Amino acid sequence: MSAEATPPSAIFHRSLGKVYPTAVSGQGIYLETKDGKQVIDGSSGAAVSCLGHGHPAVIQAIVEQAQRMSFAHTSFFTSNPAEELAELLLSQSAGAFHNVMFLSSGSEAVESAIKLARQYHVSNRQPERINFISRRYSYHGNTLGCLSAGFNPPRREQFAPLLSQAFHHVSPCFFSRDASPGEAESAYVDRLLQEYEQKIQSLGPKTIAGLIVEPIGGATLGSVPSAEGYLTGLRRLCDKYGSLLLFDEVMCGMGRAGTLHAWQSLGNVAPDLQTIGKGLGAGYQPISAILVGRQVHDSIKASQDVLPFVSGHTYQGHSIGCAAALAVQKVIIEQGLLANVEAMGKCLRSQLEASTPHLKEVRGLGLFLTAEFKAIGGSPISSRVAARCLDNGAAVYLCSSAVDAVMFAPPFIITEEEVGKLVEIFVLSVNEVLLEGV
Ligand code: PLP
Repeated sequence: MSAEATPPSAIFHRSLGKVYPTAVSGQGIYLETKDGKQVIDGSSGAAVSCLGHGHPAVIQAIVEQAQRMSFAHTSFFTSNPAEELAELLLSQSAGAFHNVMFLSSGSEAVESAIKLARQYHVSNRQPERINFISRRYSYHGNTLGCLSAGFNPPRREQFAPLLSQAFHHVSPCFFSRDASPGEAESAYVDRLLQEYEQKIQSLGPKTIAGLIVEPIGGATLGSVPSAEGYLTGLRRLCDKYGSLLLFDEVMCGMGRAGTLHAWQSLGNVAPDLQTIGKGLGAGYQPISAILVGRQVHDSIKASQDVLPFVSGHTYQGHSIGCAAALAVQKVIIEQGLLANVEAMGKCLRSQLEASTPHLKEVRGLGLFLTAEFKAIGGSPISSRVAARCLDNGAAVYLCSSAVDAVMFAPPFIITEEEVGKLVEIFVLSVNEVLLEGV
């Protein structure tokens, strides 16, 4: 994107030295900038805008809810859109969950899920359960609790002295990269499960509160699906040792993998608590949620004469957020968009695989795909490719520096022709970077 001649910004931007193009409008899979440029939202931001932009039914729902009632604090009231959205989510989850707590961001949801897990054990008179096991190279959000759970080195490093010691990290599940030569998938999974078991034993099985994983690793390593049998193995370990299983589907969930929940495509293993965000409100409003399993609900409820859930946020269950998310989810269901995720996911994957000989791997599920580059000339090229893509009219997500990769997560409404255009821009951008020299 050409640098616009803008005056110094009053915004404390993420990168203070950078000039950001000003997005002024959006329609379908496109965003338009102030200088009239159309940009394909090739990763829906960070896997957020699953319905694309300017959807009339969602906008209408937001306006109608704002006119009726914008906000009623959840310490006093519930609201119709929140109740209706919770019912819809439960009805779509094949009995895996008992109720839903709404929050505003993925980080808030993860923080609250961690606290809910802890309170569950306190309610069950097991206050010694204070430890969580999560994975290196996971990402669970940016607040201090979430950073403690996650392990995205560049985002974490300088804050490490502020982080909780209650989180312990094991290896990520990345079969295509980390399996030993000739190692079968089942043997690789057994090895990872043994590592968990050793960690549980060394911390003390009765101190474990929960295991936290992204069923498809997202922002750090770039859409890495769990290997076959891995989630089933984690479920078994949790049941064996009395700890909770927490799935963080803030990025990979809500249809992005082709099923409503990513775990439904990965052995159909349900967790005790699950966080969702991004695709829930599709960016029309900031909203996230925790899907709560029956066991957690019942224990907390049974102890509520002693203690309510000791956590809350002012904007949780915001009426306009819930109305927007309800409209988004209804459109996805009514238009059968998960079938398009499946079909366009296959189309995007095959086009990416054929796009350039410089890719080591195209991985992921549904419309949650990552193209990782081979080592070319010694230095990574993904950040230059992502910048070129933006210049050339497509925004794609740059994964962390742990991999040389960009992520594609376009809106669920994308067409075959638009997939072709997105891949064309990607190829052009890769070629431009290679021509410039590596
Ligand atoms: N969890 C996962 C898996 C994420 O990918 C993210 C954001 O990228 C979060 C949590 C945090 O969500 P938010 O940025 O909305 O706080």
